[in-house]
Amino acid sequence: MLTVEGLNAWYGQAQALFDVSLSVGEGELVVIQGLNGAGKSTLLQSLIGIGPRAQGRITWQNQPIQTWPAHRRARAGLGFVAEDRRLFTALSVKENLWIAASSGSSAQATPAQRFDRVMALFPQLHTMLQRPASQMSGGEQQMLALARTLMTGPRLLLLDEPCEGIAPVLVAAMRDALLQLAREGVAMLVAEQNNILARHAQRVLVLTSGRMDGAA
Ligand code: ATP
Repeated sequence: MLTVEGLNAWYGQAQALFDVSLSVGEGELVVIQGLNGAGKSTLLQSLIGIGPRAQGRITWQNQPIQTWPAHRRARAGLGFVAEDRRLFTALSVKENLWIAASSGSSAQATPAQRFDRVMALFPQLHTMLQRPASQMSGGEQQMLALARTLMTGPRLLLLDEPCEGIAPVLVAAMRDALLQLAREGVAMLVAEQNNILARHAQRVLVLTSGRMDGAA
């Protein structure tokens, strides 16, 4: 489904990724672990096309996509949730979701069906549809960021620390929602340090100073 071969990335002269290779199969949950600064965010950003200068081969459903801009990768079914969430904080929960629906990949479901599915997955959001995103807790914002990406109908989710720094009750809700999505066949590549999804993953990869340990 997704294959990465020999990926290198640089911030100016400083190299952040060294010859990284990995793959994510259909419906697989793959976790990337590594210390702060290991390159997890850089890797995910490079895959969606918003990272620093990069070289290497990224293949998505048998097509080389490394030259594609981010919006084309998103339309092709890659969904990214950044660590800093990147919500429209002045807009309501509902508005954040519907804006995303218009940029969705060509999909099996209509935007209305995706909205219903997202509400079923995150009932917490249903009670705050009119609330501005700025008035949500960090964990609620994290849910909204994931829900917004789901509105685009991704086939592979790239998640940067989805359960980091949020209240324990919301960590459990987030974990359960992600595992439910995995059961429904959504593939995931998740960067995390806190072992919440790693114990459910098909594979756990470790990034050390920009290099992948062992075989991908
Ligand atoms: P964290 O868990 O702290 O987010 P990470 O594993 O995601 O860490 P990255 O954020 O990808 O790691 O950082 C990898 C390397 O690239 C680090 O050495 C970091 O200092 C550097 N780096 C990250 N972003 C930038 C940037 N915008 N400009 C310059 N260097 C950067």
